[in-house]
Amino acid sequence: MWWNTDFVLPSLLVLSILLTYFFIRPRLPNRINKAFLNLIIADIATIATDLAATWADNHYQALPVFLTSALNLPFFVAFIARAFTFFQLTMVLLKLDRSDFSWKKLLTHFVFLASEAVIISSPFTGAVYTVDAAGYHRGPLYAVLPVCSFFYLVLGVILLLWFRKRLRESTLLSALAFHLILIIGNTARILLPQYLVMNVFCMLAILIIFISFENPDLYITDRGPAFNTRALTDWLDDPLHRKDSRILGFAIRNYNDERSMYGGLQMDQGLGLIISWLVKQFPQMLLFYVRGGNFAIAGPENADWERIRREISDRFQQPWRAESADLYLNVTYLEIGLTSRNDPADRIVNMLIYALDEAGSSADIEQTLMSEEALREIDRQIEIKRFLDKAVEKDLAEVFLQPIVDGRTRQLVAAEALARLRNEDGELIPPGLFIPIAEKNGHINMLGEQVLRKVCAFIRDHDMKALGLRWINVNLSPIQCLHSELPSLFSSILREYGVSAEQIHLEITEESMINYTKQERQIEKLRQYGFQLALDDYGSGFSNLAQVKKVSFSSIKLDMSIVWDYVRDKDSLLPALVQAFREMGFSITAEGIETQEIADAMAGIHCDFLQGYYYSKPLPMNDFVSRYSEKP
Ligand code: C2E
Ligand code: MG
Ligand code: MG
Repeated sequence: MWWNTDFVLPSLLVLSILLTYFFIRPRLPNRINKAFLNLIIADIATIATDLAATWADNHYQALPVFLTSALNLPFFVAFIARAFTFFQLTMVLLKLDRSDFSWKKLLTHFVFLASEAVIISSPFTGAVYTVDAAGYHRGPLYAVLPVCSFFYLVLGVILLLWFRKRLRESTLLSALAFHLILIIGNTARILLPQYLVMNVFCMLAILIIFISFENPDLYITDRGPAFNTRALTDWLDDPLHRKDSRILGFAIRNYNDERSMYGGLQMDQGLGLIISWLVKQFPQMLLFYVRGGNFAIAGPENADWERIRREISDRFQQPWRAESADLYLNVTYLEIGLTSRNDPADRIVNMLIYALDEAGSSADIEQTLMSEEALREIDRQIEIKRFLDKAVEKDLAEVFLQPIVDGRTRQLVAAEALARLRNEDGELIPPGLFIPIAEKNGHINMLGEQVLRKVCAFIRDHDMKALGLRWINVNLSPIQCLHSELPSLFSSILREYGVSAEQIHLEITEESMINYTKQERQIEKLRQYGFQLALDDYGSGFSNLAQVKKVSFSSIKLDMSIVWDYVRDKDSLLPALVQAFREMGFSITAEGIETQEIADAMAGIHCDFLQGYYYSKPLPMNDFVSRYSEKP
């Protein structure tokens, strides 16, 4: 029989390209990469020994029998080893390679080892093949090869299907696909033995593996040669890596502000410079860039972390020279030991990202060590975030109403709508916890719309006059307010419920009015649609009187802090301010009315409306209705 090697060379070529690419890109030292490397080595060894064996078999007449026999042996050994490394890769994918010695492991290795034993004995026993003066012949146990190959392929498919939950869907599909290709390859090998087609199918299988989960680019950021969040999660997923390891995280302070100041292009260049510098400076460490100006450096617990931090700090004293600007950036550090952490990898990554985001925007520049307490707090925040996601998706937010009374008559005139979430145990989560998160991740738009819809439904379904309600206040987040579609959206919602704009007052916090010019136009537009606007929490921060005058608010809500200040230590400032506001045409609401004394004091300086716990805490809508239907 003359063996045909036409199919072999293209395979070798493709493999060498993959191998080069795999080696020049940064690679995580994890199990799957090691398994893939083993696979490529086994495949190249199989092809090389296959060529050698084929050459010997084609030229057996010119060679001594023992040499032809010796040149055949490595191929059979490598062939079985390759089948086994494919299987090992599947085991790593399914995380089945981590248990220590077990009978299952024994079984999976046994077939491989027994097959190799039969093969190695063949030059003496002739079990798998023999070579004599007439050349190469198959032995009686030649079937060991296809049987062993099929055994691992079938076992691989069974395990993939059994443990499919452990894989992303795309990974599962690719894994099944490469098994199918190998099964076809092995079948073709039986049908067309002289064509060495098996190598082509193996190459295709390796190509699928490479494209779907071994391409180094899947794990590297596009900002430079640093690993990404997916890589960090994968790396942390292996308990071996956590042992005696530590992560030093650092965040570029106020990254988003810096980014908008320097511009995206320059900032990206800056990130590239930082990453290159870190990679060069700390070649022994793993560098991860976890988006938003956050970095994580992983390395052994006993490394000189103090020195690493110092070197980074020193470098950040200098500017980063982007093409057309020098970037002056500051960083905040955060450390976590990993040895004692056995939380799931994605939880650690979430906590790290969250903590880095916080560290980067906190006023405290000192390096922080993630304490257990801080971790629990972060956990709670992540919990709230998840809860918020669900609440927004399923429209679960509740709206509570807090009465607002007339300063003179002390009769109910209006109510403020306040959002509430309830966790699985039925406990209320206050807006102070979830509104900032919703503002950060953009959920505030949906949430705000849901609140408005609930208020509109309330107005539609109740006799407002009988309750004594003239309007309901709805809070507006500055993020919502900047949305250009907001006025028309809100107005169409009102129309949908048959509610008129005079029945809704929108509250915007004073704090959010820093960006006056942008807000001014929006507020003007809302006014044109008929909404009344109230400036909320006046006096809680930096109050700019001149600006307040320019914006078309119809009322001002005094923050409870200045209300309480006044009651504690009466002076003439607040009465004069209220007086001035009233003369300018604003109506005044005092918040934080907790006692009769505060109520009288604020009514005494002519606040038009009063709101606070003295009258009532915010109530669920039903309670609000039953309380104010039965007129006292
Ligand atoms: P805010 O608009 O200033 O609402 C008044 C807050 O003061 C409410 O807190 C209310 O329960 C509380 N409060 C009322 N009277 C008293 C009192 O006498 N004493 C004390 N100590 N507190 C009183 P809450 O409900 O926790 O809301 C906090 C903030 O969350 C609100 O402040 C508002 O800025 C925001 N918020 C609430 N609901 C929404 C919403 O649907 N959308 C947006 N964007 N923000 C909301
Ligand atoms: Mg408010
Ligand atoms: Mg307020």
